Amino acid sequence: MGATKHTGPVKLPGKPDPKLWVSKMPFGLGKIKPHHIRETAKVVWHNRDNLPYAYRILTQGVCDGCALGVSGLYDQTLEGPHVCTTRLNVLRLNTMPAIREELLYKDIDELRRMDSTELRKLGRIPYPLIRRKGEKRFSRITWDEALDHVAGKIRQIDPKQLAFYLTARGITNESYYVAGKVARFLGTNHIDNASRICHSPSKTALKRSIGVGASTCNYKDWIGTDVLVFWGSVAANNQPVSTKYMYAAKRKGTKIIMVNPYYEPSMAQYWIPSIAESALFGTKLVDEVFQVNIGGDIAFMNGVMKIWFEMEEYLPGSAIDHAFVQAHTNGIEQLRAHVTQQDWTTLTQSSGLSRERIREFAELLARANSGVLVWSMGLTQHRFGTDNITQVANLALLRGFLGREHCGLMPIRGHSGVQGSGEMGADPFSLPGGEFHGADVERMQQLWGFELPHWKGDIVGVTLENAILPEDHERKLKVYYTSGGNFMETMPDPDFVKQCLESVHIRVHQDIILNTSTLLDAQEAVIVLPAMTRYEQPDGGTSTSTERMVYFSPEIEGPRVGEARAEWQIYLDLARRVKPESAHLLGCNDAPAIRAEIAQTAPNYQGIEQLGKRGDVFQWGGAWLCEGGICPTKDGRGQLWPIELPELRKPEGHFYVTTRRGKQFNSMIYSERDPFNGADRYDVLIHPQDAAALSLQEGEAVVVYNSYGTFQGRVKQVEVKTGNIEVHWPEGNPLIPKSVYEPEAGIPEYNTAVIVEKAETYHAHKDTKYVEKRIQELEIEME
Ligand code: SF4
Repeated sequence: MGATKHTGPVKLPGKPDPKLWVSKMPFGLGKIKPHHIRETAKVVWHNRDNLPYAYRILTQGVCDGCALGVSGLYDQTLEGPHVCTTRLNVLRLNTMPAIREELLYKDIDELRRMDSTELRKLGRIPYPLIRRKGEKRFSRITWDEALDHVAGKIRQIDPKQLAFYLTARGITNESYYVAGKVARFLGTNHIDNASRICHSPSKTALKRSIGVGASTCNYKDWIGTDVLVFWGSVAANNQPVSTKYMYAAKRKGTKIIMVNPYYEPSMAQYWIPSIAESALFGTKLVDEVFQVNIGGDIAFMNGVMKIWFEMEEYLPGSAIDHAFVQAHTNGIEQLRAHVTQQDWTTLTQSSGLSRERIREFAELLARANSGVLVWSMGLTQHRFGTDNITQVANLALLRGFLGREHCGLMPIRGHSGVQGSGEMGADPFSLPGGEFHGADVERMQQLWGFELPHWKGDIVGVTLENAILPEDHERKLKVYYTSGGNFMETMPDPDFVKQCLESVHIRVHQDIILNTSTLLDAQEAVIVLPAMTRYEQPDGGTSTSTERMVYFSPEIEGPRVGEARAEWQIYLDLARRVKPESAHLLGCNDAPAIRAEIAQTAPNYQGIEQLGKRGDVFQWGGAWLCEGGICPTKDGRGQLWPIELPELRKPEGHFYVTTRRGKQFNSMIYSERDPFNGADRYDVLIHPQDAAALSLQEGEAVVVYNSYGTFQGRVKQVEVKTGNIEVHWPEGNPLIPKSVYEPEAGIPEYNTAVIVEKAETYHAHKDTKYVEKRIQELEIEME
């Protein structure tokens, strides 16, 4: 935590810098690139029935897209407008009308023929709905009927058979807070959130390395730092306005480095619409790219540290910031012993990078006096995700890149609300202002005035698996209450997920739209509750950005949809019905009262109670966490951890596969084609050498498979690391094994080994499947 406060936005330079241009051809004519003007025009067209409201959301609200964070059209980093096509695309979720009744009450099998994109376009959920077992259609019920039904069931079951999940779709801190409180009030600790499948390892690792699980610095620190490293993060695609910050950084001489298996085109060059010279001629973003094997990051970083220790032997002080390490860290000797004994053959094979390339990276960082290390799901979504991030923290601590200007560790988030979810306690391991352990549990019992459950709650993946436990098991999941989210698309092994979701007695979907999970059966009933967006919520709401800015988003005047309610109100209403005798303990009667309670229970959030009008914002923890190198650990020091190489099982003839994002916002797809590389959603990104070795032609049909599943796609030859392939997420999820979780943070593994084969050959060798398929087809033809 630091005393220094963020100093607000800075100006971009006025004069252009042709050295950064991609080409002199205006608007990137002839290049594969997004067409921002065309896309903006499409958005205007899609919102044409509600344009004044759309405008008010954009100019007054806090963006409900990614977690870069912006209030209205202005942010805390740069002067000038801040808007991107992700925000514009998501806008329609807020402005669209209710689903028409003839569609809402359609036969469920007809609705099931639609994918999530088609379902999303139907419109907003207007009223509470129910579909009991065996019924073919949803039917409308009142709020009282819906909540009494769920409350009645909750009263009948063991609290360990009840679980909550909250996604990050525009959800406010107020809703996370109340959900976390209500879950404990109802006696369950099974409450989890979307960070479990994105940045949970970041929090776990940073906590154990530096004592605090959040970004230690600001985006402003990118601007003028010596090196800015994006590790497993395609910020240009997932947090588009970050490109403007990268541009500003380059203008100050910052070197931008990308570590990723794929030379992502959006990170190489970008046409930033709000900067005239960039909109016209493009901007070259990254200066250096290190293409690492999928899962090879730990080896890469051990190699970097091994070189640093070698450099130190020749010239002390040439690589490690000794003053920082001595004053602010523990564990240097154990780390040195661990990395120096590692052999280069293993490190280079595992990382996929030569010793020379690793040296180049090591020297680049060693020469830098300041550095910001940014990462995302390329590092976190592994069964060793916490170790990956711990390695990044090791690098920062050895170089003293912590707690001062232009330095820091930044897990960049993809969802506007997600940073606050754990901080508000909507997490099995967290409570507001602390962790779920003795002292914090005691503290919260005092503050809330009721006893908290004392058993450990399950992460979302395990909760889903609990649904298929025997009926009499104390953790058999019987009521699953989800706010948003679509596990059919976000979790590995969709068939297994379907089985789990359909085994639950009552599933509650509190949401603004239907998706493919909402349409699945349940053992007793599926109940759908219409939620308000953040802009409709009475007295507004707050959300926390990646850089810990807590932004206030006001209630915005405009049309309201059907009977939708604020999410926190729904949780409270449910809890009061389950335990009317203790309902007075819940409090939280309106949004200001919730913010006042957050300030009281989560000390970092003191100041939230004063937010109440458009543009209000504060940053928790000050400009730099661990300011001056003082970490919020018992002895005030950071910890260096020796990290073992993971065992990467890639049998002969196999590829590593990972998933990537195209034109989408999390699992919501906005285009079948990625505007940055022209890839279709079912393209298999493969290096030309690998394609040639398998005699595969561009566009040829291939099957990617392993013992978990198959993926049918087409060859797209790109600059991906040899021996590795990439497919889109969530389409590639059937290839990913179920039930493999990172042991500490609980994130599922999203990478595996696969075989790539010509579709023709695959089918010829799978003649049983082929014949079965033909018989099915014949049957269909005969009907
Ligand atoms: S970059 Fe993120 S926060 Fe900024 S407008 Fe786009 S989606 Fe919203």
